[in-house]
Amino acid sequence: MSKRIVILGSGESGVGAAVLAQSKGFDVFVSDKGAIKENYKKQLNEYNIEFEELQHTEEKVLNADEVIKSPGIPDKAELVKKLRAKNIPVISEIEFAGRYTDAKMICITGSNGKTTTTLLTHHILSKAGYNVGLGGNVGKSFAMQVAKEKYDYYVLELSSFQLDGMYEFKADVAVLLNITPDHLDRYDYKFENYVASKFRIAQNQTKADAFVYCTDDEVIEEYMKEHALGGQLYPFSIKKKLSGESAYMNEEEKEIIININQTQINMTIEQLALQGRHNVYNAMAASIASRIVDVRKEVVRESLTDFVNAEHRLEFVATINGIEFINDSKATNVNSAWYALETMDKPVVWVVGGTDKGNDYSQLHDLAKSKVKAIVCLGLDNQKIIENFSGIVETIVEAKSASEAVALSYQIGKKGDVVLLSPACASFDLFENYEDRGMQFKAAVRAL
Ligand code: ADP
Repeated sequence: MSKRIVILGSGESGVGAAVLAQSKGFDVFVSDKGAIKENYKKQLNEYNIEFEELQHTEEKVLNADEVIKSPGIPDKAELVKKLRAKNIPVISEIEFAGRYTDAKMICITGSNGKTTTTLLTHHILSKAGYNVGLGGNVGKSFAMQVAKEKYDYYVLELSSFQLDGMYEFKADVAVLLNITPDHLDRYDYKFENYVASKFRIAQNQTKADAFVYCTDDEVIEEYMKEHALGGQLYPFSIKKKLSGESAYMNEEEKEIIININQTQINMTIEQLALQGRHNVYNAMAASIASRIVDVRKEVVRESLTDFVNAEHRLEFVATINGIEFINDSKATNVNSAWYALETMDKPVVWVVGGTDKGNDYSQLHDLAKSKVKAIVCLGLDNQKIIENFSGIVETIVEAKSASEAVALSYQIGKKGDVVLLSPACASFDLFENYEDRGMQFKAAVRAL
């Protein structure tokens, strides 16, 4: 009898995993507690894959030999606990699909900057003419691509939830951008658990593999003092000059220097398509990863200058009557909002708020004091923001919709100001998701 694979969660990754498992001859069953989107049902039907929605039938799940779990389902879920109690392996789509490809894996994680760095790295490799797939948390399912395509390289964005379901998988090039508190509700509110999860990106690596990391990040540095990693180390920094295989920024010259495989790339930060200090980090990480797989220096340089990032990440929307509007709706935690504020060089009308994730706003006090002229709260409950910034920012007003927030910002703003939506919070109180919030913001700006 063939081995039974049960897939929990039927989104992009679940359906991809189901199709791959089916193509490898497993007995496959897909179970989703919610409703499955039409397009995914259609695909499951096309491949004749048995599935259920709006429920988990335990008899059909607990008889699995192995379970592939969507990263969205927490370990605390009753069904997952039951699977673990029966010692049934529960893995992620990435772990499963990794078994069926010999492609070189460039894997990127961090609390912030994953998507940007993943897209940028993929852009560089594509421009270099590499046969390269893009997957993980971004774009199409990795497993589906393994089932249908024949790529030589993959650039994968990995969240901590995906990493939690990875055991044997090995990244040829692992990139760790930064670690700041996020998603602690899924880690028993223990930061060290989240840190350990992020470092799974480096598990199973040997001297033949590469570990690319931000040496300015104290959390990363502390962990590395106590845990030996198997791969070759490739640090990057914007605070100190580094020697050896690395990248750093020369603060005086405003230049980044990337030294890999006896080749040096020098670029001024003005030349980079993505502005802001956080993007200097992302650019250095992507450049190191690309140089490790031998992309030519000229291609790296050119790609860094012509890259266009995904929406909702410090995205310029419009300038209206001299007031610039920027959509950074993807800034769903304090750290990403910190970098957004830090990047601003005009007086800021800051649109902030939403679903609080246990935010510590004190980290933003200094920047708010020096850069923010007014705050427009955009959330159901804005009390915490008001308490935190009263006395620091002169004007604080509240809005309950994107259009109200834009209208208020426009009233408060003057020629030469910038209105920045960088909420530092999740969006679920007033919006479907961060994309919806960003779209509504942009539509309201364009309607002014
Ligand atoms: P992720 O995929 O990790 O959520 P994104 O690239 O989508 O990261 O960016 C999310 C938010 O974080 C955006 O607001 C962006 O401007 C900000 N950001 C991007 N890179 C970094 C970084 N290296 N450090 C801190 N914030 C960043």
